[in-house]
Amino acid sequence: MPKPNSRHPNFPIPSGPVLRAKGWRQEGLLRLLENVLSVGEDPDNLVVYAALGKAARNWAAHRQIVAALTTMDEDQTLLIQSGKPIGLFKTHAQAPLVIMANCNIVGQWAKAEVFYELEKKGLIAWGGLTAGAWQYIGSQGVIQGTYEIFMRIAEKRFGGDLRGRFILTAGLGGMGGSQPLAGRMAGAAILVVDIDPERARRRKDIGYLEEIAPDLDTALAMIDAAVKEKRPLSVGLVGNAADVYPEIVRRGIVPDIVTDQTSAHDLVYGYVPRTRTLAEVHDLRIANPALLMAESTASIVEHVNAMLAFQRAGAEVFDNGNLIRTQAKKGGVEHAFDIPIFTEAYLRPLFARAIGPFRWMALSGEPDDIRRIDDLVLEMFPGNNIVTNWIGLARQYVPFEGLPARIAWLGHGERTQLALAVNALVKSGELSGPVAFSRDHLDAGAMAHPNIMTENMKDGSDAIADWPLLDAMLLTASMADLVAIHSGGGGYAGYMTSAGVTLVADGTEAADARLSHALTNDTGLGVMRYADAGYDEARDEARQKGLAWFDLSKA
Ligand code: NAD
Repeated sequence: MPKPNSRHPNFPIPSGPVLRAKGWRQEGLLRLLENVLSVGEDPDNLVVYAALGKAARNWAAHRQIVAALTTMDEDQTLLIQSGKPIGLFKTHAQAPLVIMANCNIVGQWAKAEVFYELEKKGLIAWGGLTAGAWQYIGSQGVIQGTYEIFMRIAEKRFGGDLRGRFILTAGLGGMGGSQPLAGRMAGAAILVVDIDPERARRRKDIGYLEEIAPDLDTALAMIDAAVKEKRPLSVGLVGNAADVYPEIVRRGIVPDIVTDQTSAHDLVYGYVPRTRTLAEVHDLRIANPALLMAESTASIVEHVNAMLAFQRAGAEVFDNGNLIRTQAKKGGVEHAFDIPIFTEAYLRPLFARAIGPFRWMALSGEPDDIRRIDDLVLEMFPGNNIVTNWIGLARQYVPFEGLPARIAWLGHGERTQLALAVNALVKSGELSGPVAFSRDHLDAGAMAHPNIMTENMKDGSDAIADWPLLDAMLLTASMADLVAIHSGGGGYAGYMTSAGVTLVADGTEAADARLSHALTNDTGLGVMRYADAGYDEARDEARQKGLAWFDLSKA
């Protein structure tokens, strides 16, 4: 029986032991598709997050995907092109059940304007990273990443401690909504600006945001008091970041850390210019998208100029992967790229060892299954401080949304060990149902994005998309249950290519083989991608873990 969903009553949360499909692999993927909508931002329009990231092309496509997953045999493969099912193919019982290519536009044509035209004609849909591949698990999907960034900054600048520190950011959407909780978990006082009161209320309702201030004066007073008392606090403020950031600069207040997670990547469907109300923006999207793009760019220029002013005044300022610097640079902010990208500034040493955002979802819908796996992680990796610290915090702070799920940054070998141990618990009946594993597309071998994941790679290989394509092909050969190749849509068109993977641990021996091959090869390629680019951490990891990497510098 599905569980009721108070946020989106028409999208109940799948759960229980009853299968509608012919096996748990198919049922698991069906539940993940249902789940991305039940925890998504605008499920009536199939939008999961990031303004336009969709689970399926349209409702007809969605209905056909559900019908296919419900009726297909284990030795068939369903092909999906930009959110639309194309057909079923006879393969074999160890082949992927679903293979997807979402939003891949040929190079010279991969521009936002072309994407919008193709979308209007119903020919394409953007899958975001985890929307189209049915892997989104709500705001918690990026929460550890955001927390780890804050903690790396704490180590670099603030003696390892963010208590008594002020973080300023914006965006309380599908992903940005993780910021207030991650900031509080890191011990800071965090102010998050969002133009949409509904988004702020939603984050408060689900326990990610503590307070909503009625105005900027009150918000700053609340933050000031928390900073003085070294008390963790998250405060939301309804306003436009392009107004609020410059106003804070004018007042001479310098936060300790500044970033932004509005949907700045999309000038039409994402960012809201300071010159417009939300209602006006909705109308302009249809009536005059070119004007909206120009006004969004003008506001982003002011927004980023304020971020640069904070940086000059001594704040730690970074881009959190929303293309805001790129848009500002196009608008004429010459020094926009003085702001570093989070991957290069804080997380690259982890990615070089293929340590990245790994996640698991209890397909039974039972939170106790996740709690049992939490215990298992603590038993299995006692020396891994990042993970043990995180599991403790996540248990205390992170509420479950939709299918109970957990994310933890694990690396090569660790992911496979955990997944096999979980599969054994499924088999023994200690868990109440199968568990699905996936990871963010933003992972070591899985993404080429020269303004986010691969900015300033040591060997200059930032824009080479061979790696995610190889990753997807390798995952297909390694028997993953779902494999997806995504490229950017909306404002991300032409900026990125990535690969996604999902596996279902259904307690069978066949699942042992799939989990073992796919997870080991996925992170193995991740290590090799960084080793190839010249990162010492990756070369060391390849040596220590005995990877069959060809080091041509020694040939
Ligand atoms: P979303 O569309 O769900 O939410 C965006 C939010 O920004 C909305 O709540 C909107 O009201 C608000 N907003 C827009 N313009 C604003 C303005 N001028 N001032 C204040 N608020 C404004 O998007 P999301 O899923 O939260 O993602 C946000 C961005 O982060 C996207 O660009 C996305 O691609 C990027 N992202 C980065 C990572 C990462 O790993 N760092 C991960 C996921 C998403």
